[in-house]
Amino acid sequence: MLAKRLEKLHPYVPGEQPKDRDYIKLNANENPYPPAQAVSEAIKSALDSRREKIGLYPDPDSNLLRQAIADMINSTGGVFCNTEISGKKCSPSEKDKIPFTVTPDMIFCGNGSDEVLSFVFYTFFDSDRPLVMPEFTYSFYPVYCGYYGIPMDTIPLKSDWTLDTEKMLDEANKNNSSIIFANPNAPTGLSLSRSQVAEMIKKAPKDRIFVVDEAYCDFGGESCIPLLADFDNLVIVRTFSKSLSFAGMRLGYVVSSPDLIKAIFTVKNSFNHFPVDFITQTAGAASCENAWYYAENAKKVSAERDSFTAFLRERGWFVIDSKTNFVFTKKDGLSGESIYQAVKKEGILIRHFSTPGIDDFVRITIGTHDQMASLKKILEAL
Ligand SMILES: *Cc1c(COP(=O)(O)O)cnc(C)c1O
Repeated sequence: MLAKRLEKLHPYVPGEQPKDRDYIKLNANENPYPPAQAVSEAIKSALDSRREKIGLYPDPDSNLLRQAIADMINSTGGVFCNTEISGKKCSPSEKDKIPFTVTPDMIFCGNGSDEVLSFVFYTFFDSDRPLVMPEFTYSFYPVYCGYYGIPMDTIPLKSDWTLDTEKMLDEANKNNSSIIFANPNAPTGLSLSRSQVAEMIKKAPKDRIFVVDEAYCDFGGESCIPLLADFDNLVIVRTFSKSLSFAGMRLGYVVSSPDLIKAIFTVKNSFNHFPVDFITQTAGAASCENAWYYAENAKKVSAERDSFTAFLRERGWFVIDSKTNFVFTKKDGLSGESIYQAVKKEGILIRHFSTPGIDDFVRITIGTHDQMASLKKILEAL
């Protein structure tokens, strides 16, 4: 009774969300800080004074939200961690300044960046050639390849865990393929600089889409948004789930040229006209207007990450340099599974992947100062 295509599906497995006990959750790269107070206020007011709106279809194109996202990007440069804050006003740091104004027609919004990615895959990747990606990157990309029947060309990371950009380019040029990766990458946390990505795009096929997933960029990466001035095949995917404390609401977006955004709209309007509901549009716009608050949190998270990294290294752990809200680490003599289990027993969840090649590692989301202090105590005792 089942469709044949089901055989090609290998669903994504998210970090566990247990109900049996109140764990400290450092396993899904969620933000340890709550959303801005103004976001609760916006939701309450949407539920109360604009209650009748719940009975009506939302704006299918999220126009106010897209304007708010564009404004947020222009005022932060797309990297909260470096954003200069004065009162409640943000301005981009010198190195993050975007050499043009991002406009709403350069933004597409969807129901979480996972859904946005699925539209991107459908819009730009065909089954007639393989999609080039690193062997270790966001594990939803292979899932969508299965879903849409897109062949994959996965390129191993180099021995220092960086992307093998030359091999990726060789393969893309051999088959005239698109390229996708997360920058900073997951689960390693390593980041390519904007100029490194620019070099890659220059050498990649001109008539194929080049996708950069910036889910973690706000915690210290370099955004590729400024490169949209130079490359009309660049598609940047971003999410509210991590730096905007919004994982429970579901909101993600694309930044790209108006032409490519139009193409994604065509796909959206052929699948679900209204992916972003009224409450989420309202709360999302309120989040953008309070970017200063999230910028402060991103700065806290990145400082905590750097001190946690130093803590681990002083104790002989191997830690990959992270520009994200997590670290990827291992310790000689301890298996990844045993670290995960020992920490779980003490009430903290971290992430362990049993995938060969990275199964020695654990991925630890950076929490609040107090949460990290509890974790440090447990790790000291290991
Ligand atoms: C978390 C994550 C996403 C998904 O974000 P949602 O908006 O919650 O769907 C996409 N890409 C990467 C690399 C991520 O880590």
